[in-house]
Amino acid sequence: DFIKEFAAHPHYKAPRGNKLHAKSWQTEAALRMFLNNLDAEVAENPDELVVYGGIGQAARNRESLEKIIQVLLELDENHSLLVQSGKPVGVVRTHPQAPRVMIANSNLVPAWADWKHFEELRERGLMMYGQMTAGSWIYIGTQGILQGTYETFVSCGNKHFDGDLRHKLLVTGGLGGMGGAQPLAATLAGATFLGVDIDPTRIQKRIDTRYIDKMTYSYEEAIQWVMEAKEKGENLSVGLVGDIGDVLERLIQDGITPDVLTDQTSAHDPLNGYVPNGMSLEEALQLRKDNPELYKEKSIKSMARHVELMLKLQEKGAVTFDYGNNLREFARQGGCENAFNFPGFTPAYIRPLFCEGKGPFRWVALSGDPEDIYTTDQALKEAFPENDHLIKWLDEAREKVAFQGLPSRICWLGMGEREKAGLIFNDLVRTGKVKAPIIIGRDHLDCGSVASPNRETESMLDGSDAVSDWPLLNLMSNTAGGATWVSFHHGGGVGMGYSQHAGQVILADGTDRADECIRRVLYNDPAMGIFRHADAGYDKAKEVGDNFGMLI
Ligand code: NAD
Repeated sequence: DFIKEFAAHPHYKAPRGNKLHAKSWQTEAALRMFLNNLDAEVAENPDELVVYGGIGQAARNRESLEKIIQVLLELDENHSLLVQSGKPVGVVRTHPQAPRVMIANSNLVPAWADWKHFEELRERGLMMYGQMTAGSWIYIGTQGILQGTYETFVSCGNKHFDGDLRHKLLVTGGLGGMGGAQPLAATLAGATFLGVDIDPTRIQKRIDTRYIDKMTYSYEEAIQWVMEAKEKGENLSVGLVGDIGDVLERLIQDGITPDVLTDQTSAHDPLNGYVPNGMSLEEALQLRKDNPELYKEKSIKSMARHVELMLKLQEKGAVTFDYGNNLREFARQGGCENAFNFPGFTPAYIRPLFCEGKGPFRWVALSGDPEDIYTTDQALKEAFPENDHLIKWLDEAREKVAFQGLPSRICWLGMGEREKAGLIFNDLVRTGKVKAPIIIGRDHLDCGSVASPNRETESMLDGSDAVSDWPLLNLMSNTAGGATWVSFHHGGGVGMGYSQHAGQVILADGTDRADECIRRVLYNDPAMGIFRHADAGYDKAKEVGDNFGMLI
């Protein structure tokens, strides 16, 4: 009956309200968040179980989906479910403070860790791609990356434009699940925005969720709109249907140099993500099926051309950076030798935040009631009255962010702050100020949870970019600390062979048990960022670590 009601293809929907379907809130929370990842308002392609980021899935197939639901409905607090690349494979004996679900997605032994080998296994139904929050059931729609993107653009403005992005044109490609956050983040930061996507349905989704202002198929019309807005200092956002390479070429021909240039096409996956230049979307989808090798070849060549054009615009003065999709690496493979001549966004803008243990803290109201999120917003404003940046963000988010699926919120919080916020939320549940428990999680893109040498750990001070002991220690700390579910993935963000990363999600259900788990997990999780960056030699991380008396 549950499957009929909440998981009937294609209308996945998490239950709302405070009635339990599972045996405890720990498993109910996992169940609701699993289904929420596949809600059509949240996921990019729920029919294929794809949540975001190319082919990032929540479950391996329909059969696995139904089995996960069935186990979660029956699981008690002395057992935990094991999920292997989206398939439930067993239940182990644990205890009430242990994670209820332990997930490993897309992991391969290093010498086999490439797309080719992964695709063979995927074809045979043996694996799925978990991306970061798709396979770990804590994707919250485009808002999930919104504040990080906003922080990045603001930081770029501070560094290059005296803190003012008005009268500045920001150009990018890709308006999918994550990339779709760019227009709203850019306009919140004051810029004029032009985003290019080959797939009109993706831009339409951003219009529907109020992430982007206008859409057009005409280059001329888009340019007229954005140049007028830039002139007037208006923070307008425009989505143009087309190939990003072609649009960059036109900009160069027309002598238009963006002030800021980046990209979030799904370049991490040359087969099931990036669309090669010179083909319609339909032709590309057909070629993907008919001749995957030729597709990949064309895709990698197109990425080389794309990056060549970005480099030309960089030479003309555009502040250019890679936005975490591994575009530079595939461009290099396609023959663009100096593809790494522009930096990645982490060393350029985000690392100082990581050194304070800051990262994408997010939470979801399991009641389904937006008022519960507004209650948490208010509680955070009262808890951090000195943090103007946070308060401005919470106010803007309330006004401008449309919820997708279960109501949720994100804000970057650091060492000490996450634990404080978690305990406050647990208290809101305990005292009935919110209508049902709250789930707290984060992206795998965090300060101490990921090894990704072309992204989060690019250009580490001590050269330890590729050391992946850190995300494993993160996973172990969060498992031992008592997160409600934990995950370890390979290939998120940048594709197979290029990253390993861990996730955690923790329940605030108003119990003393939750207080204890929150005190451990929301201390350990940002602490890993401090340990990681202090060990690599960053002074800021050492200073924060000393303040908390946590360095050994
Ligand atoms: P997505 O698959 O949902 O969207 C990608 C979009 O790129 C699609 O809409 C597609 O139509 C478009 N596209 C592909 N080729 C194109 C081309 N040649 N010209 C124009 N548009 C093209 O992916 P997503 O979830 O938005 O993620 C985007 C990328 O960012 C991925 O590589 C992902 O791994 C990476 N990522 C970045 C961050 C970050 O914080 N920066 C976080 C997560 C993921």
